[in-house]
This record gives sequence, structure tokens and C-alpha cells, in this order.
Amino acid sequence: MPTPAWVIVYTGNAADTAMLYSLLEAEEIPVRIGDEVMGTLAPYIIDGGQLASVKVLVPEDRVVDAEEVVNEFVEETKAQAATASPSFKPWTCPCCHEQNDGTFGLCWNCQTGKG
Ligand SMILES: [Zn+2]
Repeated sequence: MPTPAWVIVYTGNAADTAMLYSLLEAEEIPVRIGDEVMGTLAPYIIDGGQLASVKVLVPEDRVVDAEEVVNEFVEETKAQAATASPSFKPWTCPCCHEQNDGTFGLCWNCQTGKG
């Protein structure tokens, strides 16, 4: 039986790829991680920029299954990144208790800092 070709379904930093690895494993999809593996690029590959040194690979015949997991993972990562930036969250002034927009560094009402 010929060995199936391995296809890169995601590239990212070590933490991201490790997390994705366990997600794919949980779905019983065979998965490999490599930073020097040559593989076919899936057409929907996500470009993680400079940190995209680690590749996640799955067998060719499981790409469709893996795509679902990868997409879900990417959406979740984006959502987490959005909530992790506190500078854009509304905040309550510790002095006058006015509600301030997340883009304000000082209270619009009394000029007190976020604290
Ligand atoms: Zn205030």
C-alpha cells in the first residue's frame, strides 16, 4: 500500500501548532508536525507571517476532515485575540464611575486615568 501524501493544513508558531495537533488527534485524524517537512500546500493554507515556521500536516485523504478542525481553531484563536486586547474594552472610571469607550485612556468626564 502506498504511503499517502502529507498535506500542510496549517502553519503557525509552536504553541498554536501544538494545540491544533491535539485537536486533530482528538478527531482521530493522523497528524504530523514538522518545521522542515516538504509537503503539498493545501489551497486554503493560513499564512501566520514570520512566526509561521511550524507546519501541521495530515494525510491527503483526511484534508477535508482536518479543514473543519483547522477553521474552527482559527476562528477561536481570532476570538481569543480580540478579547485579549483590553485597550478596546469599555471601562468604568474608578473616580466618577462613568462608562468610558475602550479607546479613551482618560475618563471623558473627570480626566482620571484608567488605573
Ligand atoms: Zn471619571
